Amino acid sequence: MNYVPVAVVTGATRGIGKAIVSKLSQEGLSCVMIGSTEQSISEIKPQEHLHFVNPFQRHRALAIDLSKWPQWTANCRGKFAGINFESDSIDKIHKGHYRILPKVNELFWDTPRTHYYMSLLVNCAGIAQHSLSLRSSSDQIARIMNLNFASCVSLCNMATKQMVKTVRLDLEKKHCIPKYVSPCIINMSSILGEPQMTIPGTTVYSASKAALTQYTRVLTQETMTWGIRAESLSPGLVTGTDMTNEMGSTAKEQLVDTLIGLPTHTPEEIANKVWQIYLGENN
Ligand code: NDP
Repeated sequence: MNYVPVAVVTGATRGIGKAIVSKLSQEGLSCVMIGSTEQSISEIKPQEHLHFVNPFQRHRALAIDLSKWPQWTANCRGKFAGINFESDSIDKIHKGHYRILPKVNELFWDTPRTHYYMSLLVNCAGIAQHSLSLRSSSDQIARIMNLNFASCVSLCNMATKQMVKTVRLDLEKKHCIPKYVSPCIINMSSILGEPQMTIPGTTVYSASKAALTQYTRVLTQETMTWGIRAESLSPGLVTGTDMTNEMGSTAKEQLVDTLIGLPTHTPEEIANKVWQIYLGENN
C-alpha cells in the first residue's frame, strides 16, 4: 500500500496560494486547491502551477465562493464544481463535481493500493479592504469577515475531523510512510493583524486577521490533544501578488510607509516558510 499525504489549500489560483501549491506538489503532496470560480480554477495549469513527481499523486481544483459563508458549508450534496488532475497529461484532466474532503468510508481518490490521508490545511484565500470603515458597506464587511475569518474556521473544523483519522492510522502503517509528519493547519494571517499596526483604511481587514491569529493560538491548544498542529503566519508586504493592488490608494501608501525598513517577501519565500512549518522546522 502507498500512503500519500494530501494538502487542502485555499486561495490556490494566484499569488501566495499558487506558490504554496507549486512547492507542495513538487515535494510530492497531492493538493486540493480552492479558488472562487470555475473560471479562476480553469487557469490552474499542470507543470507551471502544479507538479507530478510520483505516480500516486493526484490533484483537484474546486470552485467555492468562500465569501458566501455559511451558505457554502450548507451545500447539502457537499459537492462543488471542480477539475480532477490524475496526471499532467491533458486526457487525465476531468471536470466534475467533487467534495472538499471525503465522507466517512470514502476516499479522496478511488485508487487501488494507494491511501490518501489528510495531512495539511493552508487557509490562504483573502481579500483586502477598499475604503475607510465609514465607507464600507455591510456587504463588503461581511465578505471580508466571511472569507478572511469565518470560512477559515469552518475549514479548520472540517480538516480536524479528517486529521484525527490520520493520527489514528495505526503505527505500523505510519512506519511505511517515508517522512511522515503529524497533521498541520496553517492559517495565513498578516502583519496588519498585529496590535501595533493601525493603518487607516485597513480596519476590517486588520480585525479579520487579528481574529484569525488569536483563533489559531487557541485552536492549537484544542487540537494538540489529537497530535494536530495549528499555526498562523503573519507576513509583511508580499511583492508580486494582486492583494495590495486591490487596496484603497490611501491605505496602500500608508502601508508602504509604515512597512519601510521591514523586510518584504516573495510568494516563493512564504511557500518555503509554509513547507518548513509543515515539516516542524520553523524554530
Ligand atoms: P491574491 O489577491 O493574489 O490572491 C487571493 C486568492 O484568494 C486567490 O486565489 C483568490 O481566488 C482567492 N479568493 C479571493 N476571493 C475568494 C472567494 N470569495 N472565495 C474563494 N477564494 C477567494 O492574494 P495574496 O496571494 O497576496 O494573499 C494571500 C493571503 O495572504 C491572503 O489571505 C492575504 O490576506 C495574506 N497576506 C498577503 C500579503 C501581501 O502583501 N500580499 C501580506 C500578508 C498577508 P480567485 O482567483 O478565484 O479570485
